[in-house]
Amino acid sequence: MPSPAKKPAAKRDAKAAAPKSKAVGKEVRPGSADAPVRSGSTPQVPRGMKDILPQEQRYWRHIYKKIESLARGYGYERIDTPILEETSLFVRAAGKQSDIVEKEMFSFIDKGGDNVSLRPEGTAPVARAYINHGMLAMPQPVKLYYVGPMFRYERPQHGRYRQHHQFGFEVFGDSNPVIDAELIMLAHQFYKDLGIKTTVHINSLGCPNCRPNFTAEIVAYFRSKRSQLCEDCKRRMTKNPLRVLDCKVPGCVALKEAAPHIVDHLDDDCKNKLMRVLEFLDDLQVPYVLDPHLVRGFDYYTRTVFEVVLSDEQVIPAPLPVPAAPAHGHRGHQAVPEAQPVQEVPQPMPAVALGGGGRYDNLIEQMGGRPTPACGFGIGLERAILQMKALQIDPPDDNRTEVFLAQLGDQARRKVFALFDELRAADVRVAANLSKNALKGQLEAANKMGAKLTAIIGQKEVLDGTVLLRDMESGMQEIVDYNKAVLEITKKLGRE
Ligand SMILES: [Zn+2]
Ligand SMILES: [Zn+2]
Repeated sequence: MPSPAKKPAAKRDAKAAAPKSKAVGKEVRPGSADAPVRSGSTPQVPRGMKDILPQEQRYWRHIYKKIESLARGYGYERIDTPILEETSLFVRAAGKQSDIVEKEMFSFIDKGGDNVSLRPEGTAPVARAYINHGMLAMPQPVKLYYVGPMFRYERPQHGRYRQHHQFGFEVFGDSNPVIDAELIMLAHQFYKDLGIKTTVHINSLGCPNCRPNFTAEIVAYFRSKRSQLCEDCKRRMTKNPLRVLDCKVPGCVALKEAAPHIVDHLDDDCKNKLMRVLEFLDDLQVPYVLDPHLVRGFDYYTRTVFEVVLSDEQVIPAPLPVPAAPAHGHRGHQAVPEAQPVQEVPQPMPAVALGGGGRYDNLIEQMGGRPTPACGFGIGLERAILQMKALQIDPPDDNRTEVFLAQLGDQARRKVFALFDELRAADVRVAANLSKNALKGQLEAANKMGAKLTAIIGQKEVLDGTVLLRDMESGMQEIVDYNKAVLEITKKLGRE
């Protein structure tokens, strides 16, 4: 623990260091430790990034548990790839013209002169690992899942961070539409397990054989409306016309309504495969809608693409603003309080994709591997947590203290120490504050932690060889034998 006397010294150090960082004429290499330090100020979390504080962790634990149980249940093995990859991996996989590669990559030249990027997504690294480790020689399909941080260098805005977390499931080496359906079901099931109802939006982006047909149709349609498109879409028209369908600018969204449907221009093979996927989804009772304009942000998708969207029935109406006292006597208008702090309650996002994915049969070959069909999906964890909060889904707090051990006096402290270890070994979540002397403060701590039981050992209990057990909810107290304390406690916690 830092002693109070140290604090001023630390402050002085920071001040003393400050002028050095302003050294004139000294060239600073990007990424080196000699980069300028903002003088005097406390280091801040990098722009667009955030800390996940202890009180948030129960959401994360809950979600990680759901992911793991889903993976175990359906036979997916975990894979971890580095956070840093060669930039060329993502350029090759996502396409030079994709938004991600064009403007959102967190790329830099490292000290060795290599062009590297913090991974913006999980599929390309997993596909790279599949090739690098010769997984094609393993029995197919190979089913993998990943969880971890992803990075996008974009302007930070509400709910979007430069570092966010994603998990994804990927299946390599199987082109059967049942795989597509399984993955769609898993994405839907993940939310169902959290208590969130979703609907799947699904479409097919065809194959190299039929994609040129509908791309031509779509180009012809939007060319006639070119003047009404946003600037980004005007560029997309020449480079990546299907992405116009993905534009969120209201003017472009309106134009999309009358655009040709991709499904009308699929060849027979692609159409059949889409029908098979839908049939499987019917069997699995996954609610879906065919969305003939759905495209996804990456160039590597072929055939099935899908997104998981919050079901309408799950959307709870936003709470009305509290009417303020009519300041100017206006009638007929509900006055909205001005000086009130912005409400931090997140709102459910009905129209926003809560995750998605699709088939990418050409990616492995495009990256230099042998032709290998593949399919997968990814889900953002921050978004899932935001939905949980908006829908008031409270995850169980499974780190909560069950038993607090309170003590009075040195001998009691020693007994508590031993009991603590026995309880911990019996898998009881136990806490104590051995440096505290007053019983009152210890009981307050037990209350704050939400302990179900408090076990008290004072001088009397030491002499009698007993423990006083107090039920924190009912206030009932009971004296038990010290040697039977673990048994009694586990019984009271309903462990036996
Ligand atoms: Zn096709
Ligand atoms: Zn647009």
